[in-house]
Amino acid sequence: MKRGEIIAVGSELLIGGRLDTNSVFLSERLGALGVEVRFKSIVGDSEDDIVTVLTTAARRAEIVILTGGLGSTSDDCTRQAVARAVGRPLRRRAEAFAGMSARLAAWGRTPTVAQLRQTLIPSGADVLANPVGSAPGFSLQWNGSFIAALPGVPREADAMFDAAVVPHLVTVGTRDDRRIERRLLHTFGLFESEIDRQLSDLMKTYRSIELGLLASPLGVTIALTARAVPSRATPLDRLVQAVKRRLHRHVYAEGDQTMEDIVGRELAKQGLTLAVAESCTGGLIGHRLTQVPGSSRYFDRGVISYSNEAKHEVLGIPLALLRRHGAVSAHVAAAMAKGIRLKSHTDIGLSVTGIAGPGGGTVHKPVGLVYIGLNAKTSRRFFQDTLTEEFRFHGDRHSIKMRASQAALNMVRLWLKDMAIDRVHA
Ligand code: ATP
Ligand code: MG
Repeated sequence: MKRGEIIAVGSELLIGGRLDTNSVFLSERLGALGVEVRFKSIVGDSEDDIVTVLTTAARRAEIVILTGGLGSTSDDCTRQAVARAVGRPLRRRAEAFAGMSARLAAWGRTPTVAQLRQTLIPSGADVLANPVGSAPGFSLQWNGSFIAALPGVPREADAMFDAAVVPHLVTVGTRDDRRIERRLLHTFGLFESEIDRQLSDLMKTYRSIELGLLASPLGVTIALTARAVPSRATPLDRLVQAVKRRLHRHVYAEGDQTMEDIVGRELAKQGLTLAVAESCTGGLIGHRLTQVPGSSRYFDRGVISYSNEAKHEVLGIPLALLRRHGAVSAHVAAAMAKGIRLKSHTDIGLSVTGIAGPGGGTVHKPVGLVYIGLNAKTSRRFFQDTLTEEFRFHGDRHSIKMRASQAALNMVRLWLKDMAIDRVHA
């Protein structure tokens, strides 16, 4: 495979506060084109530093992609640095000017003097059109390496890579080589070590595929990677099916799908509606559900019933019940789920109550103790209308909230799955 490197330019990426996300999709896209990314670097807006890192990268890799520092402000110096590194002067380029003025004209503007700097391109380089913004990029061949400079704005880098860099890479000949294929399976409810153990014999029969496990508060993602020859199919699809059969209900989604996508899709399919009553997750479940376009079809409302008074006044939970069991209890989770379902007239009520920490824990009710409740309108035999589950999560406040929201959505997912199976058998 061809070797690739990605260089993210921008002082803001070094001082904290902003993450380099461009290299994430660039790595993926390069891999699919048969370029193996071997190094990623982050460098500030310093001409000398960019020259250093680019020179090193071009020595090691056949393909080098830079993003950022192509703007019109005085701190942007990627074009000067590339010109100096490859020893070519910057020239004003008519195509660059034409592309930029056409884009600006569409927005009712004309180029400013500062923006004209962006039409300076190292001589002999190809101008890369910007399909969504005004700043042009460029690419060139130097000492056997292909070098491309793209804007820093993620949306622009993304669009320019697809529209202008991919055609160049194809002519550079990456496609005759091998490429990387990857599948992601998202699981919830299993530890990394358990997954590793459960899949170890399977992986032995698929020696050409690499297994990667990535744990987060949302669960463990299984990454299956194969290095493939273009004309030949990999056994990836077969392995994906085998892993899904093996881990069964624990696999909730594939690829870029999220838990909320899956829950939403299933609710819509079954024509059911949902309302949530959240305590320690503070609206996170409602936020996640409404991230999915079209969620109004099945999501009715969410209540953040944080205090005991709110649980009593808004959800109708008897104060005596709260006093007897405490707000963080299975009894209260069940009552919250039923309360929100009755108030909202939905098919399903979902609730969360717990201790997100760092304070507020006791010996009997430690930080991370979370109860999830589900209450559903169902007349089916063998189907409980109320479910509660106790969890003990670890981590900081943020990850406990994430884990609790994931566990709650997962409970809905599993309930919907059983419901679908039950319908088939009814
Ligand atoms: P502009 O014309 O907007 O100045 P530019 O090519 O100079 O474009 P930068 O100024 O470096 O790009 O960055 C523009 C925006 O994109 C900034 O908000 C920056 O934080 C963001 N950005 C830059 N590089 C990256 C990266 N690698 N990952 C994510 N965001 C980035
Ligand atoms: Mg900039």
